[in-house]
Amino acid sequence: MSNIRTFDILVVGGGMIGSALALGLSRQGWRVGLVEGSDRASLVERPCPAEDVDGFEPRVSAISVASQQLLENLGIWRAVVKDRHCPYQNMNVWDGEGTGRIHFEAAELQARALGTIVENRTIVRALFGALDASDVALIDGVKVTGWWQDGDQRGVELADGHRLGAQLVVAADGANSRLRQWVGLPTREWDYDQQAIVCTVKTAQSHRFTAWQRFSPTGPLAFLPLLSESGDEHFCSIVWSQDTDEARRLMALDDVQFVAELEASIERQMGAVESVSRRFAFPLRQRHAKDYVAPGFALVGDAAHTIHPLAGQGANLGYGDVRALQDELSRAHSAGLSPAEPLVLARYQRRRKAENLAMMAAMEGFKQLFARDELPLRWLRNTGMRWLDGLGPIKHRLAAEAMGLSR
Ligand SMILES: Cc1cc2nc3c(=O)[nH]c(=O)nc-3n(C[C@H](O)[C@H](O)[C@H](O)COP(=O)(O)OP(=O)(O)OC[C@H]3O[C@@H](n4cnc5c(N)ncnc54)[C@H](O)[C@@H]3O)c2cc1C
Repeated sequence: MSNIRTFDILVVGGGMIGSALALGLSRQGWRVGLVEGSDRASLVERPCPAEDVDGFEPRVSAISVASQQLLENLGIWRAVVKDRHCPYQNMNVWDGEGTGRIHFEAAELQARALGTIVENRTIVRALFGALDASDVALIDGVKVTGWWQDGDQRGVELADGHRLGAQLVVAADGANSRLRQWVGLPTREWDYDQQAIVCTVKTAQSHRFTAWQRFSPTGPLAFLPLLSESGDEHFCSIVWSQDTDEARRLMALDDVQFVAELEASIERQMGAVESVSRRFAFPLRQRHAKDYVAPGFALVGDAAHTIHPLAGQGANLGYGDVRALQDELSRAHSAGLSPAEPLVLARYQRRRKAENLAMMAAMEGFKQLFARDELPLRWLRNTGMRWLDGLGPIKHRLAAEAMGLSR
């Protein structure tokens, strides 16, 4: 082991989830290493001011109030706010095939916002800024290519031939986690046979700090509000999840045809769509690891679970993992235990699996309910939405759940 660099905890993957975890664990006093395949310079590169649709990052997340609190505790939310972000006070969800509609308002919940739309890169940039000033050993620009285990020693192999060792290795290497596969943690997964089309648009009218979501049998369309540096309220990030054939058809349209379909689908809530950025399509797959932990090993974020983007909860579930693993490891540190202590990891798994599964099941139910066109189901969802909209306490409970405040 003498020529191997070793840590208490090694986090693999410096995305939104892994870099937050590494930062938090280092502050608890653990010796932490973070391996990220991309170069640090490319991750922290500042974007141009966003005064047109191509100035925004295509990938954004609706950060819940609970996730915001985690990022505040890490001391990086201020850097996010100084960069680009858009708090939203309203959410409008409706059934494109009927009359069902639900409207959520932050004011009803005595909250300043229901959540904040942030470009994923903005969060990563803020986290890397804080990592620079931390004790985390960042190993960037090199990929992990393998996993090794020798008795109770374990670690990873890097593409440059080096090996790293740690008492606990945490995989935060995203949905297609190679580490999860090398360690041999199986998943339950299925294809939604849908793709999410993601792009940025500029609309004739303001988004009114509202997240809009219209459901149709072929999938939901979300308009998520963005703010440019100069405070322009006419930009939205689009997540249009559609059955694969329909998504392919939409991707093949030219911008004029695409915009015409987009305007019709969102029922011109913000008037005309004046411009549209380049479009990206992501295949959608539900995936859930049967176990999140193995001896000296844990999964967090998309490496443990991926979920349909219809409720914008993927990154929020990942931050829930970060919160739980940090709590458990903080207690272990105070008690002088190893970070790989099996009871510590078992408690982490118990806390997160149930909650993640519940959210995944709810999303699946939602998706199925709106995918069906039979009259009784249409009646049920329209009546249900109208009924829910009129029921203050239950509606507030649902909103608190989405904001991550009920945990
Ligand atoms: C269309 C779409 C819309 C979404 N909208 C929302 C939303 O509104 N709200 C929300 O909460 N979530 C949303 N999500 C989900 C969210 O984007 C993900 O849950 C989140 O990005 C996962 O972060 P992560 O850090 O776990 O993984 P990733 O972001 O995938 O990061 C993994 C990191 O690991 C690195 N890596 C991978 N392999 C290796 C290796 N071998 N060696 C070294 N490094 C490696 C990668 O370079 C990367 O930096 C959406 C997802 C999609 C597809």
